Amino acid sequence: MLTLMALIARAFSSMSNEGPRPLVICGPSGSGKSTLLKKLFEEFPDTFGFSISHTTRNPRPGEQHGIHYHFVTRQEMHDSISNGEFIETACFSGNLYGTSIQAVRTVQSQGKVCVLDIEIQGVEQIRNSNLNPILIFNNPPSIEELERRLRGRNTETEESLQKRLDTARREIEYGRTPGNFHTIIHNDDIERAYRELKKFILQELEEQQRNGIALNLRQINSSEIN
Ligand code: ADP
Ligand code: 5GP
Repeated sequence: MLTLMALIARAFSSMSNEGPRPLVICGPSGSGKSTLLKKLFEEFPDTFGFSISHTTRNPRPGEQHGIHYHFVTRQEMHDSISNGEFIETACFSGNLYGTSIQAVRTVQSQGKVCVLDIEIQGVEQIRNSNLNPILIFNNPPSIEELERRLRGRNTETEESLQKRLDTARREIEYGRTPGNFHTIIHNDDIERAYRELKKFILQELEEQQRNGIALNLRQINSSEIN
């Protein structure tokens, strides 16, 4: 019986590290990750692709199986983990989440930059992997504002909201620790945060292009990166 770590190590050794570096966006629940990514995917539909995670949590109104997540049972998730199908997994707010090898491959096979929206246990698992990810932390202005956003989103029960806020305190500390991320986006104003994110990502991609990595990226106006 292989241990979880051995399964994950095996999964990594079968991943390609050629092509553009995947982008990882991490930040407390409610900090605005999905909102930022929606803007990015709308503006650059041919450049970026979302890594569709598995989760055992229930879908929210409007969330679709196979688009926002693969919604699975605990048993299905455990079976897939045992089969070595995941690059990383985590337990968050009482539910399991994970990035499958297939999720990343699907995006990479379309010639797109793979974007992962994952929490910090996942970041720790892939930080030094041969995926060689670019790590971005989405930092909310305060816990109070996070609570306001989460309540406004109207997706959580009081219990899950409190669990998410408890976790958020640890995540913010981790996110703000120097060396844990390549950049921190200060997400107070969404338009400003998006400009910051876009600038950072485009600069990274330009550097990769200079190093010979092929990217499906439109001509970038210098005002977008300076
Ligand atoms: P996450 O994906 O990090 O859990 P969301 O993108 O779902 O967070 O955002 C949580 C809620 O906060 C949503 O209702 C969203 O519209 C709102 N929101 C996101 N970013 C901001 C922002 N910078 N200022 C105010 N509200 C925001
Ligand atoms: P939500 O339930 O709000 O969609 O996501 C809760 C948390 O799980 C968020 O911090 C999100 O980034 C994280 N998450 C989503 N998918 C994955 C995944 O595949 N792996 C890990 N480690 N975290 C994930």
